[in-house]
Amino acid sequence: MTHLTFEPRFATANNAEDSQSPLCDQQFLYYSRHLLLPDWPEQHQLQLRQKKVLIVGMGGLGCPAATYVAGAGVGCLLLADGDNVELSNLPRQTLFRQQDLGQNKAQAAAAALQQLNPFIRIEAIPTMLDEAQLSRHIAAVDLIIDCSDNMPTKLIINRLCQQQQRSWLGASASGYQGYSWLINPAAGGCLCCLGHQQPLPPGGCLQQGIYAPLVGLLGLQLASMALQQFSTNAPRYSFVQIYQHQWQQFNRCQLLADPDCVICGATTNV
Ligand SMILES: [Zn+2]
Repeated sequence: MTHLTFEPRFATANNAEDSQSPLCDQQFLYYSRHLLLPDWPEQHQLQLRQKKVLIVGMGGLGCPAATYVAGAGVGCLLLADGDNVELSNLPRQTLFRQQDLGQNKAQAAAAALQQLNPFIRIEAIPTMLDEAQLSRHIAAVDLIIDCSDNMPTKLIINRLCQQQQRSWLGASASGYQGYSWLINPAAGGCLCCLGHQQPLPPGGCLQQGIYAPLVGLLGLQLASMALQQFSTNAPRYSFVQIYQHQWQQFNRCQLLADPDCVICGATTNV
């Protein structure tokens, strides 16, 4: 597996020595609109600089999610995707341009994001992660954002995060149907507790198409949920949000643990 690191052009604070250093003038200006928020003091910005997030999938969900997580100043992003940019991606995969066609998505996204925020560290993982690789990365980050486009990957992430008791966010979309979720193993419940209601419409984007603004909405929602996870008012329960296209809104349902779930059930040894 090849890791490509895009070195920031300006000084960053990604090691222990820098962790306590205040924001430089450029960083203060860069983050100034967030720093004006009443619950976003400089100390919070410095804490975000210490966070590491893994984003699996750099397509229609991953591009907007990564853009706003990077812009907010999360200190280290790991971007994983083995696919290359195709022409049909451009309407909704907003980090890519014509000149990126044929390039690996993780690498192209990392290059674009490093231009967006030179103060953070971004690593591109230009392969489809196998289970062992996923497990290692999950153990090494503070939060996992699943932006993959297939149920098998989501179920592997679900199982690994349950085993490691790690919170994770995810979303899926097809046609006009969209879902997003937060799974907090400590609070109970997992993706498999949904049983036959698992949130990925059959067929996927290749057969059913995809309403481009919907993946944008979901990606931004994932970014906001991720930033909330690093705040003091993070939800302490697991939930699923279902998009209602007719009303342009999301309905949130608390995800209740199924005691017979094969992944997180009370009788299951994980
Ligand atoms: Zn479960």
